[in-house]
Amino acid sequence: MRVIVIGAGVAGLALARGLLAAGHAVEVYEEAPEPRTAGGSVTLWPGSTAILRELGADCTGVGRRLETLESWAADGRRLLTVDLTDAERRYGHPNVHVARRELVELLADGVPVTYGARAEHVQPDRAEVRLADGRTVRGDVLVGADGRRSAVRAALLGDDRAKLSGWVTWQGFTTMPTALTDARRAVMIAGGQGVCGLIPAGEGRLLWWFDVRSAPGRPFWADDPHVAGRLRERFGGWADPVPGILGTMAEPDFFPHHKQPIPGVWGRGPTTLAGDSAHTMPPTMAQGANQALEDAWLLTRSIGDLRGYERARSRVVRKPARMAGANLTDRQGPIVRLIPDGLATRVYTSMLRGYSNYLLTAS
Ligand SMILES: Cc1cc2nc3c(=O)[nH]c(=O)nc-3n(C[C@H](O)[C@H](O)[C@H](O)COP(=O)(O)OP(=O)(O)OC[C@H]3O[C@@H](n4cnc5c(N)ncnc54)[C@H](O)[C@@H]3O)c2cc1C
Repeated sequence: MRVIVIGAGVAGLALARGLLAAGHAVEVYEEAPEPRTAGGSVTLWPGSTAILRELGADCTGVGRRLETLESWAADGRRLLTVDLTDAERRYGHPNVHVARRELVELLADGVPVTYGARAEHVQPDRAEVRLADGRTVRGDVLVGADGRRSAVRAALLGDDRAKLSGWVTWQGFTTMPTALTDARRAVMIAGGQGVCGLIPAGEGRLLWWFDVRSAPGRPFWADDPHVAGRLRERFGGWADPVPGILGTMAEPDFFPHHKQPIPGVWGRGPTTLAGDSAHTMPPTMAQGANQALEDAWLLTRSIGDLRGYERARSRVVRKPARMAGANLTDRQGPIVRLIPDGLATRVYTSMLRGYSNYLLTAS
């Protein structure tokens, strides 16, 4: 089959790898002039590390394998520990935190991509796309893996753009040595001021992020010239290593949270969607890249049954999207303290299976 893929992000690259290995002819068109490797780092749960292995893009040599996920109060008290090795043992694949750059490079290796090629006009019923340079490309199947501003989704479903959730992330890496940098612990700290996350990303890097409420024109929005000072003021009294990180913070990256309704079927005729174009969600459950990989895996196996793929994925991806959209993280303090670690671990392990078509099929 000849498959046209629009977008060379995680979804598009993973899908292209899977389809090429299955013997299909694949063309990937990406609007950026080169691979888009910006951003922070992403946590890959066992379903995703298994999928990457199947795709010949094993990620265990990059990033950092995680063993626990801890919830702290702002004063540094540990409220809850989820043992991630339980999921690793049960599903046979690790939890890994990896820089987005490294994940994109791993997936892009060996995949022919036409860069600087923006899809402008999409004909879903004919699997046809006119590119910005005037060329028209056509396949047996067309996949929009073109992210949350998807041109393919707009042609299929109309202009139902993803909406701001009211939360934003400011993030970056620090190489300042901390007790967490060489550990295998992911830490979430929640308080009335917002949320701080700290996760080792390998090679001496610690990803830090702050989630705060904001909107265009308000403090903490993308164009806020005083954001570094505001973050220091708001989170400076939190437990170590937060003050030290705020002290060395240079130019944090802005990442607004979006959400979008997920239809039961998101394609038409020979055209479908994969990744954020189908199901943009806030990063609060660390699921965006994982769900993109799940799409790529199932679509590779279901390329002859696009509606079947959409229905199977929609049933699963709606669950993390609902949780991520509820943005409960800053309200967790009083509740999580009451939950025994063992129970939280069991719930988390089974939740990861429920969020993964791969694990639901395999185990
Ligand atoms: C630069 C960047 C930084 C990111 N940083 C983070 C982060 O720090 N934390 C986090 O949780 N998530 C981040 N994400 C989002 C995360 O990568 C995605 O949620 C997830 O991996 C799903 O990937 P995707 O392939 O569906 O979408 P994306 O990763 O958004 O990829 C979509 C691709 O399609 C291309 N594209 C869009 N429109 C067109 C068009 N008309 N024609 C051709 N190509 C087109 C885009 O240039 C992009 O490369 C980032 C995404 C990008 C693009």
